[in-house]
Amino acid sequence: MPILTFPRRIAVIGAGISGLSCAQALKHAGLRVNVYEKSRGLGGRLATRRPFGRDHPLGVDHGAPYAQADQPSIQDELAALGALWDEPQLPQNAIVGVPGMSDLARPLAEGLEVTTGTEIESIARGDDDTLLRDVTGGVHGPFDAVAVAVPAPQVGRLLGADPTGLADAVMAPCWTLLLAFEERLETDLVVAKPEEGPFELLVRNSAKADRSDTYDAGVGHCRPDWSAEHLVEEKEAMAAKLLEAFRQTFGGEPPAPSYCAAHRWRYARVVKPAGSAYWLSADGALGCCGDWRLGALAGDAHRSGAMLGRAMAQKLPG
Ligand SMILES: Cc1cc2nc3c(=O)[nH]c(=O)nc-3n(C[C@H](O)[C@H](O)[C@H](O)COP(=O)(O)OP(=O)(O)OC[C@H]3O[C@@H](n4cnc5c(N)ncnc54)[C@H](O)[C@@H]3O)c2cc1C
Repeated sequence: MPILTFPRRIAVIGAGISGLSCAQALKHAGLRVNVYEKSRGLGGRLATRRPFGRDHPLGVDHGAPYAQADQPSIQDELAALGALWDEPQLPQNAIVGVPGMSDLARPLAEGLEVTTGTEIESIARGDDDTLLRDVTGGVHGPFDAVAVAVPAPQVGRLLGADPTGLADAVMAPCWTLLLAFEERLETDLVVAKPEEGPFELLVRNSAKADRSDTYDAGVGHCRPDWSAEHLVEEKEAMAAKLLEAFRQTFGGEPPAPSYCAAHRWRYARVVKPAGSAYWLSADGALGCCGDWRLGALAGDAHRSGAMLGRAMAQKLPG
């Protein structure tokens, strides 16, 4: 009698670029993959907010303003997902999602089962399989293996242990000011790096490829040390404070924004990576990946996720 076999079932926690790259590698190897994401959308820190609603053409990229990679092969893979932002003030390899940064990750979700709005709280490993429990008490699984693709400080909460390198990774926060205008501003500004004040980088979103040319939008990313000092402040108070800092940086009286908000990234950029591309348990049933394994770039997250997916698939033949 023929023996029936079923593909191994793997859960990936986190639908940022590392989680989606990991999931694609697992799927490519013939494994069945379910991705769980706590936010409503995909992309993680490749993030785009729609301040005037989903149907409005204006989006504000409030996470990574562009994505980069150190390795030419990863750079090519990112370029295939988005468009090159050819701007003299930026690094030569700046890739943007079209029409928003979150769209850079979207093609990686194609063909995957992704459950959004589901924050996984714990991982329960049994003798033969593993269950996930979300913050509402919902149980998901059973799974043969779980890949955790979230920022380093959040990995510890899920794995309840110190996977190799976790304690070595350091991530810095970032307060970000989001501004949107219902008119086109009369300015040539694309990117600015003020020498003083809270902002490290100001980016005009509307200068990127395929953005609305009726409206204007921009972000100001604050310096890591300034962000850390002000980390616990209220978002509303921070938005007012940063808007005032923005006005002081440029002088004059810029038009009042139609939308002004502050976003707190508790874990924005990797300052010190763990140093290896991923961690995988000896039996291949538990692993973690993310930019924090390799470096501060979106390309590092993409590479880490794909490498974990391939390594896990090798240990867990379908
Ligand atoms: C302000 C800022 C500026 C940046 N600038 C650049 C730049 O110039 N160039 C560059 O290349 N990169 C830049 N980056 C970094 C880049 O965005 C990241 O390296 C990359 O997006 C990280 O991807 P990731 O998948 O590792 O993590 P993330 O994108 O953080 O994805 C993790 C995902 O897991 C989800 N999650 C977390 N916990 C749970 C849970 N318990 N259950 C379910 N889901 C969970 C999160 O919601 C998130 O979607 C910047 C980032 C920020 C914030």
